[in-house]
Amino acid sequence: MIKMTNELKQDVVDANKRLVSAGLVTLTWGNVSAMDRETGLIAIKPSGVDYADLCLENIVVVNLAGDVVEGDCRPSSDTKTHLELYRNFSEVGSVVHTHSLAATAFSQAGRELPCLGTTHADHFYGAVPLVRVLTAIEVAEDYEHYTGVSIVEHFEKEGIDPVDMPGVLLKHHAPFTWGETVDKAVENSIALEACAKMALDVYALNPEVEAIPGYILDQHYLRKHGADAYYGQE
Ligand SMILES: [Zn+2]
Repeated sequence: MIKMTNELKQDVVDANKRLVSAGLVTLTWGNVSAMDRETGLIAIKPSGVDYADLCLENIVVVNLAGDVVEGDCRPSSDTKTHLELYRNFSEVGSVVHTHSLAATAFSQAGRELPCLGTTHADHFYGAVPLVRVLTAIEVAEDYEHYTGVSIVEHFEKEGIDPVDMPGVLLKHHAPFTWGETVDKAVENSIALEACAKMALDVYALNPEVEAIPGYILDQHYLRKHGADAYYGQE
């Protein structure tokens, strides 16, 4: 039987705890998963377990179909959303969901998060999109699955590349972020919350503020990401 490496499971334990130390979770409202693209297995937080009690033994491993292949706990209730993102966003190696307060404020207000400055432009290539609310039928049929479907649909319809836009706001709900690695996915979650907090203050100071000019967005995003990036060390 193919097994998930302890290394990736430990990454998932550490990343879930990091959400707490970064101030992104209240109670147990948050979860991190990571996928091993070679085996097709996903390690995810167990449902409703306190972050302090997380360890290698209670991390749950599922396959892309959602079958539990390792672990005795039930996987996070949001697992089907994570799986839909892994199935459709082939570059994604880790998914993070939190109800971090400022980003969730934008979600609940039904507002996308426009790019107002270079901090945002360093991480997200444009406005972080807002995804529609699910229909009653979708919620009754398979809420968490259709949550993932609504994200994928939105990115396809709008022609947004999930590599350039590693996060999303769900209307009346909260954000999801992702990345190639666990560290990147968590970093994007922290960055999204920081940008949302800044944006709340910016709108309080100047409700008429406009998004950053496109050429500055390009300069900041592209110096850190893609083929011509030059930020940081080789
Ligand atoms: Zn949630």
